[in-house]
Amino acid sequence: MTKLLYQTDSYMKNFPAVVVSVDGENHAIILNETAFYPGGGGQPNDIGTINVEGEDYLVTKVKKVGSDVLHFLETEKLLPVAGAQVKGQVDWERRYKLMRTHTALHILCGVVFRDYGALVTGGDMDPLKGRMDFEFETMQKELVQEIERSVNLEAAMARPVKVKILPRVEAFQIPDLIRTKINLLPEDISEIRTVEIVGLDLQADGGTHVSNTSEVGQIHVVDYKSKGKINKRIYIELE
Ligand SMILES: [Zn+2]
Repeated sequence: MTKLLYQTDSYMKNFPAVVVSVDGENHAIILNETAFYPGGGGQPNDIGTINVEGEDYLVTKVKKVGSDVLHFLETEKLLPVAGAQVKGQVDWERRYKLMRTHTALHILCGVVFRDYGALVTGGDMDPLKGRMDFEFETMQKELVQEIERSVNLEAAMARPVKVKILPRVEAFQIPDLIRTKINLLPEDISEIRTVEIVGLDLQADGGTHVSNTSEVGQIHVVDYKSKGKINKRIYIELE
């Protein structure tokens, strides 16, 4: 079981760890704890390097399998052994862009729900660009500018972004969380992580976010597409 350091400190770029097991088939290692985000909720996995006794190994992919996080290492080098002390380094430039993008998408969710009552159904992102799907029948071209203005206003308001890990029972009592369909989470999940943009948006979410919306910067709503009568996809880009 890997302790997920990014869940409580999304700004951790470097961390010491110990190799607890080696997966030869995947050319991957499992650490006791990690700051590498393994992907999920539309946010891509981190990449970076792991240093073992002075030698850097490229981390080409990170993936969560059960309660373990697999760090896939470059195949040109032999895997470190179990018990080895390592230092992980997240590709911070890329990750920070993803944090800003992820928080921007939550601002978009919050604005679209508050102003138009539309629920989000999915999303995806790359560094500095993303999309969200909404049940948003009344979406039309004229709203693009209006939404863009509102999301930038919210970003500029410097709202704090708060992360909490709550017992499942407690999380289920928060009415705002129901709209993100936490009731669909598997029953064996006893704790739920919530990400709150104070005063705007609250979601059950496993991703990494900036701690204040002012870090997001300028957001452009660049396009939208109809994916049917009700479903609409909105695209954003960050500067
Ligand atoms: Zn999210």
